This record gives sequence, structure tokens and C-alpha cells, in this order.
Amino acid sequence: MEFPRPIQVLLVEDSRDHAVFFTAALGKGFKHTHEVTVVESLSEGFAELSSGHYDLIVLDLGLPESQGLDTLKTFFRAMGPANPVIVLTANSDEGIGEESLRLGAIDFLTKGEFGADQLSRTVRYGLERWRQRRELEEAQRNLKSFAHVAAHDLKSPVKSIGLYASLLKQKAASRDADEEEIEFIEYIESFTEQAEKLVDSLLNFSVLGEKSVELGTVEVSAIAGQAVSNLSALVEEESATVEVGELPLVQADEGLLVHVLQNLISNAIKYRGEEPPLVKVAAMVRGSEVEIAVQDNGRGIDAKYFSRIFEPFKRLSGPTHPEGVGLGLAICQRVVEAHRGRIWVESEQGRGSVFRFTLPMAEASVRPSLGVHCQLG
Ligand code: ADP
Repeated sequence: MEFPRPIQVLLVEDSRDHAVFFTAALGKGFKHTHEVTVVESLSEGFAELSSGHYDLIVLDLGLPESQGLDTLKTFFRAMGPANPVIVLTANSDEGIGEESLRLGAIDFLTKGEFGADQLSRTVRYGLERWRQRRELEEAQRNLKSFAHVAAHDLKSPVKSIGLYASLLKQKAASRDADEEEIEFIEYIESFTEQAEKLVDSLLNFSVLGEKSVELGTVEVSAIAGQAVSNLSALVEEESATVEVGELPLVQADEGLLVHVLQNLISNAIKYRGEEPPLVKVAAMVRGSEVEIAVQDNGRGIDAKYFSRIFEPFKRLSGPTHPEGVGLGLAICQRVVEAHRGRIWVESEQGRGSVFRFTLPMAEASVRPSLGVHCQLG
């Protein structure tokens, strides 16, 4: 990998000895011209990053104001995912390294276990991986804006086809056309309706990709209530019961979270079994994250489809549910991942499903008395 100018490295490390060792090892092993700036705390790091440009951040997880993976989470919360971060940990626990990568770091090093050569390799490969990640993101952005333009431009002709089909139907009915003719026109109407839904979902999907996440402290119970109320027609039609348990406060984008809960609750109702749908929304605090669960008593999902259903346009339900286009869960995944959370499903065919996702917990503590119970239909 070629660098046109000296590489600027920001080392956030409160131990002088480790900072000296790191700088010397980098000087010895890493052949590209580089400059290392050392700061001793996260707040100093944030100040440096807001005033200057850095090509690489090396972040010690044990700092005066925070310890362990919380340091990395705080860093990403404050700075977003715009910087390549290599994590330094005093703990040789592989789990911490893997979790750091999952949170967005490009690599990790265990103190006392690396020398000049390994450090140099980690930095070179890490920066190369970062470059590739940026290229991929750029390609995805281009693809998304293409999808957006295509969906946007399709909207109007599809609407017109629907309009002309219904005019045609009116004319056909007024001149006593035969049944088959009317039936064909109705097919056009119904396929046009599907195409309109697809175009709208595509637009939603591509807009979500562009929208930046505006984090705030959010009451999940209020958001769940809002999602249920948006779905009141479906809830009533299917005689569904939606129970919302005690839910903590999270750090999330309110509008996007409504979207996620609405998609999951509506799926829980749509993919029902024999019994009237019973949906339970619950949450539990796990460390600095909140895990939210949407549980149903519906038809369930075969384990072999657990990851595939989150891919765009993947549907298992076939023609019995023409209202879906297979983008709902892909949108949920995109939103949850934009919050640095995870989403997954646990299910057994014929025995219902639980969709779980994680979000960062709000700084404010849990407010236990906020649970509401919505029973519609
Ligand atoms: P859509 O609902 O538009 O088909 P989704 O992306 O929301 O798209 O869901 C993808 C597929 O996952 C659905 O077609 C359905 O087969 C399956 N699915 C989603 N949620 C559930 C659920 N709660 N129970 C059973 N199957 C589900």
C-alpha cells in the first residue's frame, strides 16, 4: 500500500512506558514515514481528532475515564465509524479482541505479546483492510443511490399503469365486457399494486442507507406503543394481542426504531399460525446494551433460513402473502447495525419465533415503571 505523505498515528495510551515502547516498536518495524502523537485520555483524543487529521488511531482499552470494551464503544459513539482503530488490550482474552472487531475496530494487539514486526504487520494489513472497507462502502453507496434513482423514476409510470387499468375496468364494465376481460384487468391492477409496494419499499430501503442516525435517549415502551398504534388496522383484522412489557431507555434514533418494531410486530402478526396472534415485546439489560425481543406464536421458521431472511428480497412465504416484498428484515438489520447492534432470530417451525436485537443502553438508568400493556383487537 502506498502512502503519499507521512502517516499520522494517534496513540491514546495513559501509560508512558507503553507509549514509549509502542512508538519505538513502530519506528523499528514500520518502514513508512510516520508521526505518532500520544494523548493520555479519551477526551484528549477527541480534542485531537476534532482539530487534526489522523490516518490511524491506536486505542488502549484501559484509560483513566473508562475500561475495557466500554472505551471502544464510547469512542465510536462520540466519533462515529469514520476512523480506523486498532485496539490495545492488556488482556490476552481472545473474546475481547473478537468483540472489538465486531464493534468496528480493524485489529487488536495484546500488550506484552507483540514486537516491532508484528506491530508493523498489524498496522500495514489494518490500513489495507480499512482502505478496502472504504472502497466497499463507496461501491455500496453508489449502488444504493442507483436503487434510489431507479425506484424513484419507476414510481410514476407504475402509478399511471394502475390508474389506466382502473379506467379500463370502468369502461369495460360500462359496455358489458365479458368476465375474462375484467379478470385480466384486475390482474393488472393487483400486480401494479404489488409493484407500487415494491417501489415504495425500495425507496425506503435506499433512503435509510443515506439517512444518518440521530441518537437520543428513547423510551422503547413509547416507541413500541407507537408501532402498535400504526398497525392498529392489521392488529384488528387479525384479532391479534400485542403485549409490551417493561422496557428500558435506549440510545437510538426514534424514527428508525419505530420502523424496526413496526416491521417485527407486523411480521409476527402476518406470519401467524392457527391460533390468534399473540405478540410479546420485552427487553433485558445486558451490560451496556439492551436486548429487545419480539416474540410470536406464529408459524415459525426453519433454522436453515435464519440468516437468509435478513437478506434483501428473501421471502419464505411464497404467494400466500403477496403483501410482502422481502425488504422488512433487511431494513431492520440495516437500522440495528447502524446503531452498532445485532439482530437475529430464534425459532422452530410451527412453534413461533423470537426476533432479538440489541441497542446501546441510554446513559440514564433504567426506568422500570414505564411498561405499558397494549391490547388491541
Ligand atoms: P416480507 O415480510 O416482506 O416478506 P421480511 O424481510 O420482513 O419480508 O421477511 C422475510 C421473510 O421472513 C418473510 O417472507 C417470512 O417468510 C419470514 N418471516 C419474517 N418474520 C417472520 C415471523 N415472525 N414468523 C415467521 N416467518 C417470518
